[in-house]
Amino acid sequence: MRYITTRRGGFGATGGSSADFSLREAAFEGLAPDGGLFIPAEIPQVSMDEVRERAAGGFADMAEYLAGLFFGNDLSASELSEACKEAFNFPVPLRRVGAGEDRSESGGAEDDLYTLELFHGPTAAFKDFGAGFMGRVLGRLRTDNERLTILTATSGDTGSAVAHGFLNVPGIDVVILYPDGKISDLQESQMTTLGSNIHALRVEGTFDDCQRMVKEVFADTQFRENYNITSANSINTLRWIPQSFYYFWGVLKWQEAVGEKGGFSGTAPEIVVPSGNYGNLSAGMLAKRMGLNIKRFVAASNANDVVPEWLRAGEYCPRPSVRTIANAMDVGAPSNYERMVALAGGPNASGGSNSATIIDALRAEIVGYASNDEQIRAAIREMYDKFDYISDPHSATGYNAAKHYHTRGFWLSTAAAAKFGEVIEPVLGFAPEIPERLAKLLGRKKISTPIAPDAKLLREYVAGL
Ligand SMILES: *Cc1c(COP(=O)(O)O)cnc(C)c1O
Repeated sequence: MRYITTRRGGFGATGGSSADFSLREAAFEGLAPDGGLFIPAEIPQVSMDEVRERAAGGFADMAEYLAGLFFGNDLSASELSEACKEAFNFPVPLRRVGAGEDRSESGGAEDDLYTLELFHGPTAAFKDFGAGFMGRVLGRLRTDNERLTILTATSGDTGSAVAHGFLNVPGIDVVILYPDGKISDLQESQMTTLGSNIHALRVEGTFDDCQRMVKEVFADTQFRENYNITSANSINTLRWIPQSFYYFWGVLKWQEAVGEKGGFSGTAPEIVVPSGNYGNLSAGMLAKRMGLNIKRFVAASNANDVVPEWLRAGEYCPRPSVRTIANAMDVGAPSNYERMVALAGGPNASGGSNSATIIDALRAEIVGYASNDEQIRAAIREMYDKFDYISDPHSATGYNAAKHYHTRGFWLSTAAAAKFGEVIEPVLGFAPEIPERLAKLLGRKKISTPIAPDAKLLREYVAGL
């Protein structure tokens, strides 16, 4: 599969640059040379019979089939199979949270409230799908004896997903920069207790300092080439594409669940996606274009409602983010906006990305709904009181949006409640129990290297690895 950039003009466009890129180039560069994001040059079409058949063998089996459609020419079948087995070795349950509000009269099981829990991976958030797959695939894209260094700055969650995604991948060192004293104990434990090829640097500064240091090192092309430095940024195409896989799984599981009860097995669900940078939702759009039957998406946001506003008003107006209690969604200028536009027709559609063509296409497919902090807290409270279900604040925006639109389908749960005890405790009066695999890290000794916020020191550190 070849890759093009979102700025080229969308799928099948004849305008713009004719350049396309290999998977290796797309994965190692992260961002396209023209500043756009990489997308596959064409979208592979699935056989749903095959998806169903493979899903019967488990998530990793199904993922192997889907991954083969994209990466079958880049990796051998056995490499892809191993990568999927290693990356997707945890359950992905569709959970029935409860009966739909004022819909129980009709008794249809398709009205029930379902959520697809994407948080049973190593760091208890959905980013494990992308980061785990990227780590395992990048390790296998290396040429013999090539050594790679992944450099990443984190304000907490991305770093831990990347650390676990690349843990023990031969030939790859991961260097993670995080602001000292500004992340939670659990987040710090997830990055500093792994050892092996994972190196944590605690920066005497802020997250912005961490980002600036990484950017400066990236800008030094000579140094970058000498040390084979690459990023594992959330916009990387190797993190994005595998996020389309769980949409297939969710749709099949939902159809099984409602089909058994009410004969709705062929119905296309609505899928609610708690969103920040819109990697998750745009991967759902990709799944739909691969042939998955999805009725529509609901973009659930927190107070950073740039995309719901875009859909409503017809104009995209990015702005600085505000802090909320669903902080992994605090994004004011979502990068994957470009992928949404490309999938909806391309930036060169007549009139550009704010054109009627693009907005009409998007509105036919996505509606938006924003929850402020108060509404997020109310949702956490309500799910607990009514259904005895403990939700994290991000997933709670999904519940609110599902309720608002009376969706028939499910919302994605993007993180485990246990990761956000400091938000949940004041609401419910107790902190959620921490899953065994995370609790075990809390007990371990944290090892990290202190570093002043200076890119020169980061260069020296990388050179000395
Ligand atoms: C990253 C993240 C999101 C937002 O996902 P995007 O792909 O950036 O839209 C939502 N919830 C949690 C818990 C996250 O970590």
